[in-house]
Amino acid sequence: MTNNQLIDLAGKYGTPLYVYDGDLIIEKFKAFKKAFKVNDLKIHYASKALTNLSILRLFNKLGSGLDCVSIEEIQLGLKAGFDSQDIIYTPNGVAFEEYEEAISLGVKITVDNISVLEKIGHKYPDLPIFLRINPHLMAGGNTKISVGHIDSKFGISIHQMPMVLRLIKQYNIEVEGLHIHTGSDIIDPDIFGRVAELIFSIADEFENIQSLDFGSGFKVPYKEGDLFTNIEEIGVQFSKMFNDYCKKRGRDLTLRFEPGKYMVSEAGSFLTKVNVIKQTTACTFVAVDSGFNHLIRPMFYNAYHEIENISNPNDDKRMYSVVGYICESDTFAEDRKLNIVHEGDILRFKNAGAYCFSMASNFNSRLKPAEILVLKGQDLLVRKRETLEVLLANQNEVEFDI
Ligand SMILES: *Cc1c(COP(=O)(O)O)cnc(C)c1O
Repeated sequence: MTNNQLIDLAGKYGTPLYVYDGDLIIEKFKAFKKAFKVNDLKIHYASKALTNLSILRLFNKLGSGLDCVSIEEIQLGLKAGFDSQDIIYTPNGVAFEEYEEAISLGVKITVDNISVLEKIGHKYPDLPIFLRINPHLMAGGNTKISVGHIDSKFGISIHQMPMVLRLIKQYNIEVEGLHIHTGSDIIDPDIFGRVAELIFSIADEFENIQSLDFGSGFKVPYKEGDLFTNIEEIGVQFSKMFNDYCKKRGRDLTLRFEPGKYMVSEAGSFLTKVNVIKQTTACTFVAVDSGFNHLIRPMFYNAYHEIENISNPNDDKRMYSVVGYICESDTFAEDRKLNIVHEGDILRFKNAGAYCFSMASNFNSRLKPAEILVLKGQDLLVRKRETLEVLLANQNEVEFDI
C-alpha cells in the first residue's frame, strides 16, 4: 500500500489506526502453500497473531485451517465459519475443564502434558489426539537458535516418551498426530532438518499415525539485513524429507503447519499522529497518540519496528526518540532517523500485523484503535474504534459507606 493511501485512511478513520493489507495476506498464504510440494498439506493460521473476525474469515475463504490456543479463540474461529475439524487446539497449562469444552466442540486436540494425557485416556479413550513433543534440541550451544530447550514449558519431554507410550498402550489411546512448535527460528535448514528427523523417529512408534504438525517459527524481516525464512528454499528441502518419510511408511501423511507471524506481520501498518515535539539537551522526543497500550512489542521484547514519517517522506532526516503518551516509559524507538517531523504528522509503524492489536490493552483507560482491512482497493472497517461504553460495560458502581 502506498503512503498516500495510508494518509487518506488516517484522515478518513482518524488515528491511532491499524491497517491490514488483505492482498498481501493472500499473497503470503499462496506463497506458503506453493512452497510445500506434498500430497496432503494443511495450513492452520495461528489466530493469536491477529484475531480479528474478518481476518479469520479471510483465512477461511483461502482454505486455511486455524490454530487456537484458548477456548475463546476456538469460539471466534467457529463464529468466523471454520469447521471444527479444521481447528487445532494447542493450549499450554490450561485446566482440564477447558480441554473438555474444546472436545465437546469437536476440534482437534493437542495434548501438551502427561497429566492431561492420563485424564483423556481415562475419560475419552476413543478420542484421537495429537501429542506435543518437546525435543530439547540445542544447536551449536547458541540459545538464540536452540529449539525447545530443556527448561521450555511447552510440550512433553522427549525423554518421557517411554512413559507416554506406556500410557497410550494402557488406555488404548489413538494418536492421530505428533505436534512440535518450538517458536524458534526456522532459518537454518540444518536445524529444521534435525527436528524433522527426530519427529520422524518418534512417529515410527505409532503405526496408525495420520499427521505430523510442525507448528511454526517462520521468521519475517523487521528491518533491512534481518534474517528471515526463505520459504521456497525451506519448502524444497522439507518437502523432500517429508515425501521420503511417507514413502518409507508406504502411505501419505498429512503435513501441517501453523504460521501466524509469517502470514500477517508485514501486512499490518499502525498509523499514529504526532502530538508533541519536545526538544531536550539530550535528544528530540516525538510523542505520538499511542503507547504500549496499543503496540507493546518494542517495550516487551525489545522488538524493532521500522517507523516512517509518511506526511513528509522526501525531506531531510534528523534523529528522534519516538515515545508514546502513556504515563510509564513507553519508548517505541531511540535515536531513530526520520524525515523531519512536525506536530500533526502521521508516523507509520511497519510489521504491525502480528502480535500488535492482539496484545493491546486499555492501560491508562485509553481506548483501542479501529482496524481497517484493505482488499482489492476497498477499505473495510473491520473493528470500530472503542468507546467509553466498552470500558464501563462490565463495571458495577456499588454503593458503600466508609
Ligand atoms: C504462537 C503459535 C504459533 C504461531 O507462531 P508464529 O511465530 O506467529 O508463526 C503456532 N503454533 C503454536 C502452538 C503457537 O503457540
